Amino acid sequence: MSATVTTVADLRARVEEWRRAAAVIGVVPTMGALHEGHLSLCRRARAECDRVITTIFVNPRQFNNPDDLRLYPRTLAADEALLAGVPVDLVFAPDVEEVYPPGFRTTVSVGGVSEPLEGHMRPGHFDGVATVVTKLFGMTRADRGYFGHKDWQQLQVVLRLVRDLDLPVEIVGCETVREADGLAMSSRNRRLPPEARAVAPVLFAALSAAVADIRAGQSDRMAIREAAEKLRAAGFERVEYIELRDAATLMPSDDPTRPRRMLAAAWLAGVRLIDNIAA
Ligand code: AMP
Repeated sequence: MSATVTTVADLRARVEEWRRAAAVIGVVPTMGALHEGHLSLCRRARAECDRVITTIFVNPRQFNNPDDLRLYPRTLAADEALLAGVPVDLVFAPDVEEVYPPGFRTTVSVGGVSEPLEGHMRPGHFDGVATVVTKLFGMTRADRGYFGHKDWQQLQVVLRLVRDLDLPVEIVGCETVREADGLAMSSRNRRLPPEARAVAPVLFAALSAAVADIRAGQSDRMAIREAAEKLRAAGFERVEYIELRDAATLMPSDDPTRPRRMLAAAWLAGVRLIDNIAA
């Protein structure tokens, strides 16, 4: 079993010991309900670091929708069993009061890259992410932080945060892990009823087709419109956005010679799904 601690004091005691031994420490921040996507990050950290901490914390500050927070799956015992199989050295699973004790008043807010797309659709979301990630880096004193491409914009926000605040942590981005049918693994997939689960892979398929069409010479606008139509035809009740953006700044980009990313958010059976691919 990997040990689990729930207080910052216990976490620090362990970390101080490791730092005295000059161990390289990796942290994998998660909200739990772990799946292969999370475990791939933990395995990468295991391969690259002497000590690995996985944090499990459903961060209320990054939820702009109270139902989403309430319905977010919480499966600590199963998560601990999966992490023991990696294995990681320590699981940090604090409760909300441990992270935000009475009197807590600081917000970390990243400009620019956190404003469009998810930032626009989910006001306050990235302030919550940047604040908790900054705290987790401070608590764990990690040398490396592992984040998934699945949340591409979040990864760019964290890269900006670390650069702007000179945080002494190296950020490692990891490929999105997908189900056999292409659906990006996500804790929220568990909330899809079977009929919707069968339709969900259309999100990745539509993005992939749009990128292929653009590479074959179709206009960005037309390819994106067709992708949105495919989602609606398949049964997605709402397409929030499908956008082609500069991969680092997330600003609109019509320059195919620079790295670009196609990103999307859409609702299926009351569940908000996001995905993105290189374009
Ligand atoms: P979450 O628990 O959703 O906050 O995710 C924790 C970390 O795991 C984030 O860095 C995510 O980007 C990453 N992650 C989530 N799903 C996947 C996936 N399917 N493939 C790779 N990384 C993922």
